[in-house]
Amino acid sequence: MKAILVREFGPPEVMKVEDVELAEPTGTQVLVKIEAAGVNPVDTYLRTGIHAHAPNLPYTPGKDGAGVVQSVGDGVTRFKPGDRVYTAGSVSGTYAEYSICDESHLGSLPENVSFEEGAGVWTPYATAYRALFQKADAKAGETVLVHGASGGVGLAAVQWAKNAGLRVIGTASSEEGKQASLDNGADAVFDHTDEDHFSAIHEFTDRKGVDVIIEMLANVNLERDFECLAMFGRIVVVGNRGSVEFTPRQAMTKDATIYGMSLFNAGKDELDAAHEAIGLGLSQGFLKPPVGRTFPLADAPRAHTEIIETKAAGKIVLIP
Ligand code: NAP
Repeated sequence: MKAILVREFGPPEVMKVEDVELAEPTGTQVLVKIEAAGVNPVDTYLRTGIHAHAPNLPYTPGKDGAGVVQSVGDGVTRFKPGDRVYTAGSVSGTYAEYSICDESHLGSLPENVSFEEGAGVWTPYATAYRALFQKADAKAGETVLVHGASGGVGLAAVQWAKNAGLRVIGTASSEEGKQASLDNGADAVFDHTDEDHFSAIHEFTDRKGVDVIIEMLANVNLERDFECLAMFGRIVVVGNRGSVEFTPRQAMTKDATIYGMSLFNAGKDELDAAHEAIGLGLSQGFLKPPVGRTFPLADAPRAHTEIIETKAAGKIVLIP
């Protein structure tokens, strides 16, 4: 089968398509025929080798994907050949025609969700779910600022929050991204490249501020987030790509809480709860993974470049 292999850490071009032997699933393993693989920023960090969870070489990238169960090990109880699934982790990587996953990595993909959409389920929706509900404890009637609402996690957060009865404010920097935020349920959208957007959001909330901020670029925004945060507000740091000078008094004055979160740290109960909520949301249709751009598997280097360097408007997906 064809798979992307990374034989050395480095720039996107280290990802090359190779012929790889197809493995047999054993024990609780499931062999999934991957119809679409989701590209996430973390895939690019892992490829450079400097991430805390950097894999051993050589490896095939990708945790997110969607496809059909091909065969199962003799210890598998929840899935059978022919089942439609999304992956939430993979033993052998999802940038490939087939992927070995543990059955605990899999969720059922309802018929109303395409494989391309399914490739954008796990990391974005589980991250947004954990940030909103397992960290910030966001409640109906509150106001949330999704600071970076045009990408995978941001649009997922908009959909979750809207369905939960929150007032949702999004930010994006392109017209396409702003429209995507509105189309997915944001009540208002601001431009995070506008220096004044913090005060504009504060005005929009009648100067009360937002109760929750889901922060996609904390090194740029954390200091100024407090300009539009309500008293007793909660900020969840989801994305960060550098350092920031920060005045802790701001948190003190507002009795605010700053949470850090990484999906890598979620425990079994949290992951199970996320799978259950995602299953419900997909089948009821209030979760609809927005596909932005699709590329053939061989264009994985281009997909990695675009997810970091271009404006977001939904997920980037690879088709093996
Ligand atoms: P993505 O699809 O590439 O989207 C990136 C988002 O960041 C876009 O909405 C982009 O908006 C926005 N952004 C750019 N500049 C910004 C700014 N100055 N202020 C606020 N937002 C800004 O990536 P993603 O999958 O949504 O992930 C978002 C971030 O979360 C990444 O850093 C990723 O590594 C991280 N992440 C963390 C976890 C975790 O467990 N903690 C899990 C998944 C992802 P425009 O393109 O419209 O400018």
